[in-house]
Amino acid sequence: LLESVKEPLFAAHNMGHAKKVWEALKNPAVVTMVQCAPAVRVGLAEDFGMDSGELVDGKMVTALRKLGFNRVYDTNFTADLTIMEEGSELIKRIQDNGVLPMFTSCCPAWVKFVEQEHYDLQANLSTCKSPQQMAGALFKTYGAQVDKTDPKKIVSVSVMPCTAKKFEASRPEMTASGSPDVDLVLTTRELANLIKHAGIDFRNLEPGQPDSVLGAYTGAGHIFGVTGGVMEAALRTGYELITGKALDDINIVNVRHSEGIKRATIQVGDLTVKVVVVAGLANAAPILEEIKNGTADFHFVEVMACPQGCISGGGQPKVLLENKRKDVYASRMASMYKHDKELPLRKSHDNPEVNKLYKDFLGKPLGHKSHELLHTHYIRRG
Ligand code: SF4
Repeated sequence: LLESVKEPLFAAHNMGHAKKVWEALKNPAVVTMVQCAPAVRVGLAEDFGMDSGELVDGKMVTALRKLGFNRVYDTNFTADLTIMEEGSELIKRIQDNGVLPMFTSCCPAWVKFVEQEHYDLQANLSTCKSPQQMAGALFKTYGAQVDKTDPKKIVSVSVMPCTAKKFEASRPEMTASGSPDVDLVLTTRELANLIKHAGIDFRNLEPGQPDSVLGAYTGAGHIFGVTGGVMEAALRTGYELITGKALDDINIVNVRHSEGIKRATIQVGDLTVKVVVVAGLANAAPILEEIKNGTADFHFVEVMACPQGCISGGGQPKVLLENKRKDVYASRMASMYKHDKELPLRKSHDNPEVNKLYKDFLGKPLGHKSHELLHTHYIRRG
């Protein structure tokens, strides 16, 4: 398909990583593997004149295949995997009197903020890489093994709602596979531009399915795209793994929000777990202050730099009219929770492909291979 599209048309748009993605897609000597973050599929439609918040997961997969990606995997898969690792890490910290509260680490803007402004709290950050980086590390190891492909031939691409993800992919620590785990990062808007340049009739595409074995996901992985989603996903799994019982209501609405700070207490067996969800980086200061002055009594803190979470990230389609922004974000958020409700599996530990990954390759959460590929460390930044 791309052979028929002239390069100058593309070059005129000066799209950075996108140009390199285009070149990789036209290069038969490489194997391209792509992942898309949860929020991409509820934003992409807007750049094609469709309703805000319209879920286009299937069209997105078909468009990626038409563009020529050899493997279409999914960041939602590694969002589920993140829950397995991060939930296990939290339980271990609680049982072993480790550093608490633990901070989520999936938002690179938040991680960089801690490294830069509050390095004394870096041990509070979960050592888990973000779902983007976990996927990249797996593409070039497990993915290469499954595909019987030379990892050196793999070009690992992600599509993210976020410009900070480009920085995250370039961190020197993110090379567990032996080379950059994620080579190139497109934003949602950049993907929309590529699809348009290729002349793909996005609105009329038939839905496709991501490739196995790094493509299946549950509702818990999907809600990573909204503030409170990581916390809710972690609690769905943590509760069941600790108590051995299913939650009465899987919709943990008291951690969902998009303004300021929300605190919640959840009884998990004998353990009273206190959690905090921070919407927007600006609201993290009082929580950090409580930790520093010794008054914090909570175990787990989620911080998303964008108040509504990744659905409102800087790489998503622009909402030019300010008075429309709130409604558009509300539509994207409603779409996230609707998809979660409709999915047959809604708890990360029920993801059959995640369980297969542990059985065939990783061993167990927090095991040796997980530490090598899925966990990281942090550095002081000036
Ligand atoms: Fe990026 Fe915003 Fe999501 Fe953080 S919350 S990962 S800055 S889009």
